[in-house]
This record gives sequence, C-alpha cells and structure tokens, in this order.
Amino acid sequence: MPNPNTFANNPLDRASEKRTDPDWLAAQIKAPSTLIVPFWDLKPMILPPAEKGGAREVGWLRPGALEGLASRKAVTVFLGQEHGEKGDTSFFAVDLDLGRDPEREGPLAGFGKFHDLRAAAMSLPATEAAIMAQAKSMIDWHKRHGFCAVCGAGTEIEEGGYKRQCPSCGAEHFPRTDPVVISLVVSGDKCLMGRGPQWPKGMFSALAGFLEPGETVEEAVAREIMEETAVKVGRVDYQFSQPWPFPSSLMMGCIAELADGASMETKVDGIEIAEARWFAKGDIRAALAGGEVTDENGPFMVSPPLAIAHQLLKVWVGA
Ligand SMILES: [Zn+2]
Repeated sequence: MPNPNTFANNPLDRASEKRTDPDWLAAQIKAPSTLIVPFWDLKPMILPPAEKGGAREVGWLRPGALEGLASRKAVTVFLGQEHGEKGDTSFFAVDLDLGRDPEREGPLAGFGKFHDLRAAAMSLPATEAAIMAQAKSMIDWHKRHGFCAVCGAGTEIEEGGYKRQCPSCGAEHFPRTDPVVISLVVSGDKCLMGRGPQWPKGMFSALAGFLEPGETVEEAVAREIMEETAVKVGRVDYQFSQPWPFPSSLMMGCIAELADGASMETKVDGIEIAEARWFAKGDIRAALAGGEVTDENGPFMVSPPLAIAHQLLKVWVGA
C-alpha cells in the first residue's frame, strides 16, 4: 500500500553523495535548469492557481531571480535532483534573509505569496507538499541551531545544508527528526480517541506523544495511552509514518489493541487530554466523510485528511 499521508512520497533523489562536493553544489546553484524555492518567515512562496479553482503550485525560481533578496550567507539547502530525459534538475531552498517583506517590495512583489505550509499543504500537488516538508524542516533547523551545543561558538553550514560544523571545537551537528508515536486503540468494533483541552469541542484524534530516549515505538505507545487515558494496550501494529515539519517531527502511526482482559474504562489526566471516548466503526465511517456525527455520547468530529490520525481511521474502517 502506498503511504497515504500528506508530506510523504517526496519524489526527489536526495543525492546525498553530492553534498560533500562544494564545487558541484556551487555549480548547481547557478545552473540555468536549477529550481529554487524561496522561504520567508519559514513560509514557502506559493503561486495563485492559474485558473479559478485550479491547483496552486510552489513558486520555484531560476537562479538569478534571487538577486537582492538573499545575502551571500543566506541559509541554502540542497533538496535533491529530478532525473529527466533532458537531463537532471537540481532543487534548492533559500531563506530570504535581507529583512524586507518580499511580498511588498522587490522583484517578488505581486508574484506569489508566502503561505503557512500547514494551511497550504492540501492545495498543493502531493509531491510539492512533500518537498516543502523537507525544505521547511531544514530551514527551521538552521534558524534555531546557529550555535554549537558543545561550546557555544557560531557554527557554519556544510554539505549542502545537512551539517553544521563548529570552527572552534570541531563538533559536527546534524539536522534532527523527532519521532512521535500516534495510535488508535481498538477493541472489537470500537476505537479510542482523545481530545486536547485547547481543541474545538467535539474534535477527537488518535492519542500521540514524543518517544523518549531508550524507548521502542511499542513501549512509547503503551506508555502514552496509559498516561493519557489509563487504558492498557497489548499488541501494537505499526502502519505508516508522516513527516510533520512543524518543526521536525516524524509521526509514527500505529494501531494498538486493548490488552487481553483489560478494562475499557478511561481516566484522563485533564492536562494533555481533556476527554477520551470509544467510538463505533459505523460512526467513524460517517465522520470520515466530513462534518459532525452524533453518537450516544454526543456530537463529534475527526481530524481532517491532512492528519495521520485520519489515515489511521481509514485503515481501521477499511475505507
Ligand atoms: Zn563547538
């Protein structure tokens, strides 16, 4: 089964073996065929639909179009290559760092808009959303990791953006990905979901939490479910994952079974989870179609298709 998640299925060849060749990278960033996505305030430039109701696209620029928009020290990340019949195309992301709002002044004014990726992802082609997830997480990491975690000195970008090197103590720093487990708990034709205290009333999603050091995916699922709902899970089946570039998570989607003989009674902590409920398969099927559904405990909604929780529910109901 292909991965159904938004931000998955990045089509680029990351060509990691090329990252250690600064001359090759310098030539690629100037090559006429190269495409560069500008980011501003952690938002990619996105073009309006060519026709009303049409799909939006990323505002890829050719080298040269960035003149005056980014400094020589601007964070620049090599995203990878596409291999076509007419040759290879290299893709980069650049953080516009000259302080001016490029939507209002300069050569990009009136050309495209810088959109929050979470809001824009579903209106982009799936492949472009995936590339933007890579670009956003990388630029975000650079912006927050300018100094060495060992000695505090300013660090320098290397390897096409995939390493920061400390010139003072020699430490190497690499982009991080933070694993998060997210799991439905199921028992027969019922599944357990929770609602965060800040969420809209009636909105329920799969239970989630960060993996801790020294923990397996299965252990993290069992611990999170126990902490948040006091429900004991047995077998945990991994389904698929989703890059979640806000800023750098990897959501690891699972379906967990209620432990043999365990109680379905829930007790929420009131901090991470305000409410936990069991839902029937038929009601979930109706809720996946969108909008509010009412069961014996009241109205509820499920996460939108952007969320891995939505995709886990689809697996469970067989949709
Ligand atoms: Zn250092």
